[in-house]
Amino acid sequence: MIYLDHAATTPMAEQVAASMQPYYAKDYANASTIYEFGEKSRQAVEHARTIIARSLHAHTNEIYFTAGGSESDNWALKGTAEAYQKKGRHIITTQIEHHAVLHTCKYLEQQGYEVTYLPVDEQGFVNLQQLEESIRPDTILISVMFANNEIGTIEPIAQIGRIARRHDIVFHTDAVQAYAQIPINVDFYHIDLLSASGHKFYGPKGTGFLYIRNGIKTASFLHGGGQEQGRRAGTENVPGIAGIGKAAEIAMRTMSERMYRETRLRDWMIHEIKSRVPGAWLNGDRYARLPNNVNFSFQGIEGETLLLLLDAKDICASAASACSTGSTEPSHVLTAIGREPELALGTIRMTLGEATTWEEVRIAAEAVIENVELLREVEAGM
Ligand SMILES: *Cc1c(COP(=O)(O)O)cnc(C)c1O
Repeated sequence: MIYLDHAATTPMAEQVAASMQPYYAKDYANASTIYEFGEKSRQAVEHARTIIARSLHAHTNEIYFTAGGSESDNWALKGTAEAYQKKGRHIITTQIEHHAVLHTCKYLEQQGYEVTYLPVDEQGFVNLQQLEESIRPDTILISVMFANNEIGTIEPIAQIGRIARRHDIVFHTDAVQAYAQIPINVDFYHIDLLSASGHKFYGPKGTGFLYIRNGIKTASFLHGGGQEQGRRAGTENVPGIAGIGKAAEIAMRTMSERMYRETRLRDWMIHEIKSRVPGAWLNGDRYARLPNNVNFSFQGIEGETLLLLLDAKDICASAASACSTGSTEPSHVLTAIGREPELALGTIRMTLGEATTWEEVRIAAEAVIENVELLREVEAGM
């Protein structure tokens, strides 16, 4: 099998699984207990927190464990909306966010908040001037994703952070696709809140964290016990937290090598497909792009059919994002970058991973090229 859907989820690293194992059955104590037996669980949780804090150049007490990227996004948005409602009820985000952000914004609109959904240009970039012009006295939050999960475009986060800081507005970024793939320094980027998810960087599913800058008011998300500084109640998922910590540790060690390797594989694949298939349009920016993202729209074919043909050759790729599989509507991201609906439906995304080989990429590119030709011939013959 050739797995090219790492943006949907990644395989869990063996070392990560091993790091979680002790906390299931052997060292099962509740991390909140005062006896010695609980010390191992406490240490596992705090060790993971320290590693993740370091990876972002943050303080340890600014990392809060959650059950994934969706929860972190929900908490960031709802928690900030609640905490700053006296100041205002206006939120700025973009049209290309993940549904965890977009649907939370829709919910907040029902609660009486106003949301501006910024358009993006053909490469998927937010326009900084437009962003600044949409700021109002009652704007309390700007939420712009670090990198897009479908087209891979990396947003001008430092500039956005600077604008938010200048206007004294909280800045959240959904970094689920960017964290552990590219270096992030929360101070350099002026980030106040950052969401990440374990299963997107070879960690366990159902784990994640939210970075909350000290001094930023964010309402508690789960009420109950005093875990996570009283802001996210519930007995800690000790194995999961140990696992996401281990995944972060490995990711930080291997990042530069992975970036270099995946970028070369990505660029080869983009070049090969672009030069051999007429009517192939690359989605997302050519350079400010996640190292592992290849996303093309092909004229005159259906992406879903192409995926089935690839699946028949044991190649896993995706239409747009896993969330919209089975839908015949073009994705909101492709619509936002101005792809015509017909062309948008001819889109496939291939996202590489740390174990992806040159041979796999060659086979996959060849399969894409052959099958696009085949589908076009079938279409022309009818
Ligand atoms: C996957 C993803 C999420 C959701 O994360 P989960 O851990 O699966 O809930 C949020 N935002 C982006 C950009 C993602 O790619």
